[in-house]
Amino acid sequence: MLKEISIGLSLAAVIYLLIAGYDITPLLFLAAAGGGLYYFARMRGLINVKNFENTGNTGRQEVTFSDIGGQDSAIQELKEALDFIKNHFSIRKLGIRPLKGILLTGPPGTGKTLMARAAAGYTDAAFVAASGSEFIEMYAGVGAQRVRRLFQSARESASRQNKSNALIFIDEIEILGGKRGQTTSHLEYDQTLNQLLVEMDGLKVDDKVRVLLIAATNRADMLDPALLRPGRFDRRVKVDLPDKEGRIEILKLHTRNKPLAEDVKLETIARESFGFSGAHLESLANEAAILAMREGCKEICQRHFNESIDKVMLGGRLDRRPSEADMRRVAVHETGHALLSEIVRSGSVSTLTVTPRGDALGYMRQTPEDDTYLYTKDYLENQISVMLAGSVAEEIILGNRSTGSSGDFEQALRAAETMVRSGMSRLGVVCPDTLPQDLKHQTITEIVKVQE
Ligand code: ATP
Repeated sequence: MLKEISIGLSLAAVIYLLIAGYDITPLLFLAAAGGGLYYFARMRGLINVKNFENTGNTGRQEVTFSDIGGQDSAIQELKEALDFIKNHFSIRKLGIRPLKGILLTGPPGTGKTLMARAAAGYTDAAFVAASGSEFIEMYAGVGAQRVRRLFQSARESASRQNKSNALIFIDEIEILGGKRGQTTSHLEYDQTLNQLLVEMDGLKVDDKVRVLLIAATNRADMLDPALLRPGRFDRRVKVDLPDKEGRIEILKLHTRNKPLAEDVKLETIARESFGFSGAHLESLANEAAILAMREGCKEICQRHFNESIDKVMLGGRLDRRPSEADMRRVAVHETGHALLSEIVRSGSVSTLTVTPRGDALGYMRQTPEDDTYLYTKDYLENQISVMLAGSVAEEIILGNRSTGSSGDFEQALRAAETMVRSGMSRLGVVCPDTLPQDLKHQTITEIVKVQE
């Protein structure tokens, strides 16, 4: 607001001077020089040095470990590591060096940030958060300066709140802590990472404010080995996608403030949402509540949850209305998938619809049997036949096929390739890197053809 008023006043002054007949060239020159200097200083990080989010435990709603579902073993491991901070007196007596860093690894949306926030509450620490991308600038030295500032902010924040612990959380650490010498502007990256290593090395158990760094990444393989060596990130905690029981727990957490109808079965929703992260499940519960509100219902019913699973998986409904002929073709195609799915596993069809959603004009969604991490040859062959059944149905009922099957074929070919790589094809166990492309292609198409 202040910025807009200043711009408006400056423009008014310039117009007044022009009307009054003054020569404003020197003024324009001065303004351009001032603007250039300001821009340069900003780029160098000299002005407006990054202010890191400094929320303590009061800025936002406090998170505790009981607000995190489906991560019992990760929480247990993290708590054990945090107990080193809580019991620092006995640690000092035994001459144990302090724990400096904890690395949380796992897919997006599994609760890594939540765990860091809960850790701050558990250790009664001031909490300062930043993301790896905030340290990367074009100019050498800016990132390193921001790392210094981050540690300084954490200490200052703890002192202000009269706390003896500070917890720094860096999300997407791979951006700042990637292997050195790999990026084009490597000097800047290397300096930033070096500064982080220096700051971590400087952490001591008898510091006035004890600082602990918690970092999160989805790509631990990209991190520089110097960060991972003992004495830096001493503990690694894996925060994985939740299993079925975990999904039930997370759904309970995210529906505790929502009125649920009697027909709602969280167990069924959890079974159907295999592969969902905590963030997906939070969105699922939220979408179900929005659907209920749109329909004017006072309670959220099972059908709202079923529809929101489709929405989270495939995207929102589209207004696009296909022609009658296309609708008929989509109906035939999806029914083909559904029939075959029921033949290979009865009761496996969860949703069958011609409602356009995301990229699809219609879809058939299968209910997973249970959380499955390993697939047998029979399972993969059955899945290939289900994927091909849409285009086969089009051919039988309508006499020809359409372009709507290309996505199905891609999935079928991927499943067949998995079979080849897993030694389930007629080639037996193969080395995927040295397998001739022609032979691979031939074997994959053979597998698919048999199921057609
Ligand atoms: P990213 O790697 O993308 O930064 P993240 O692992 O840090 O993701 P969070 O930011 O902690 O994920 O989670 C995002 C949101 O998803 C949370 O605010 C919460 O609503 C929900 N959520 C994620 N995991 C859980 C969980 N285990 N229990 C309860 N809610 C969860």
